[in-house]
Amino acid sequence: MQVPFFDWKSLYLEKEEEFSKIISKTLKKGAFILQADVSNFEEKLRNFLDIKHVVAVADGTNAILLGLRASGVRVGDEVILPSHSFIAAAQSIYHVGARPVPVEMSEEDWLISTEAIEAAITENTVGIMPVHVNGRCCQMDYIMDIAERYNLKVFEDSAQAMGAKHDGRSAGSMGDWGTYSFYPSKTLGCFGDAGALVTNSDEIYEKVLAMRNHGADENKTIPLETNIWGTNCRLDNVQAAILSFKMEYYIEVIERRRQIAQAYHDTLNKYSDVRLPPAPSDNGKNFDIFQNYEFCTPKRDDLRKFLGDNGVGTIIQWGGFGIHMLENLGLKANLPLTDKFFKESLLLPLNHVMTDPQVEFVCELLNKFFSGDVYG
Ligand SMILES: *Cc1c(COP(=O)(O)O)cnc(C)c1O
Repeated sequence: MQVPFFDWKSLYLEKEEEFSKIISKTLKKGAFILQADVSNFEEKLRNFLDIKHVVAVADGTNAILLGLRASGVRVGDEVILPSHSFIAAAQSIYHVGARPVPVEMSEEDWLISTEAIEAAITENTVGIMPVHVNGRCCQMDYIMDIAERYNLKVFEDSAQAMGAKHDGRSAGSMGDWGTYSFYPSKTLGCFGDAGALVTNSDEIYEKVLAMRNHGADENKTIPLETNIWGTNCRLDNVQAAILSFKMEYYIEVIERRRQIAQAYHDTLNKYSDVRLPPAPSDNGKNFDIFQNYEFCTPKRDDLRKFLGDNGVGTIIQWGGFGIHMLENLGLKANLPLTDKFFKESLLLPLNHVMTDPQVEFVCELLNKFFSGDVYG
């Protein structure tokens, strides 16, 4: 049996007929850019997330960039973010002229450490960017409390956490704004690039809405009295139509992901030389959507080879480095927990198109490896 880490073709083949119909229908209408399919998708997302405003944009990285611009982040400002994160958020911070300040992870959930946030605050700090890595929300109560005490803004990179919740509230809806990515491998993925910014603030919404389309208003013209520097960051109609359709069964997708995560948890939890994320059945205040199943073991490299030799694909997230390791980009910091984490962390295959026999096969191999059948 083969279990690829990610089977790209299956994303289309799972519902080939429906997808082709949607694509053809959208194109036959001559609806390519900013037509009803985009506003329909925004409306669905608004309801799903229980948030006031949604702006669909070209991708998740530029969603962050527009959010930062709308919040007035600029040259000389500092924004604190976790090193255990994709570089995208740091890049967007850099591109508005501000400085990304990577900090340590918490040992409990491997997400941004609230103590580390407080320790990194300087007179130039304007915001905190929690990243809800792997589909688990950060400690938002504490983060919002810090933000209030120091008068900072909170920007949620929720690219991996569409549908995740903390204390009943959706990822992305707790801070000043949040962003999503619908890159194909994300839990809600399209067939290209797509993203969204979500906010409860009318002001942020109006700014980002104008900015995504060159500063144009709802009549799609740029008003003479404009004071907004826009850009092109539009989501195209075909992707929006596909995403609207995928929203209809997204709850089931999440349920399937949680089932697989629980199977991995029940298998690995029997062994002592692993560190696991909280199980779906033990989420406390959180509702996790498991964009990834990331866990740690000092035997990581041997395990990875064993699984690979037996047809199971795995990945080390972001090539095995946190953003503070990108020294040439000036992001260097002393973060021993994050360093240790990346020496031991591994992602197992996890997506809603995996079959039960595939999941069982991965679990069998994990049992073999950790029970010492193959590892002396
Ligand atoms: C995927 C991802 C992004 C970037 O999203 P794109 O749509 O690919 O630009 C940003 N942050 C995190 C944590 C991600 O996983």
